[in-house]
Amino acid sequence: MKKVLFIAAFAIFSQFAKAQSVKQQTLPTDTTEQAIEIDPVCKMKVKTEKAISFIYHKKSYYFCSESCKKAFSSAPEKYIKK
Ligand SMILES: [Zn+2]
Repeated sequence: MKKVLFIAAFAIFSQFAKAQSVKQQTLPTDTTEQAIEIDPVCKMKVKTEKAISFIYHKKSYYFCSESCKKAFSSAPEKYIKK
């Protein structure tokens, strides 16, 4: 009888574990579909949807702050060229 109990306990445990993993998979995450760009001035990672953008030579650049954008717009070549 002890063996049967063990099997039953294992079955319940595996169902529980399965339920837990499903729960984890359906949890909402903050990192979905967010484009990240590098601020060319301070090299910080910025989220494009919240960043300040500046178009230069038909390309969009993203900045963490207005001051970084100003620094870039006053001398874009300085930050683009490596
Ligand atoms: Zn910056």
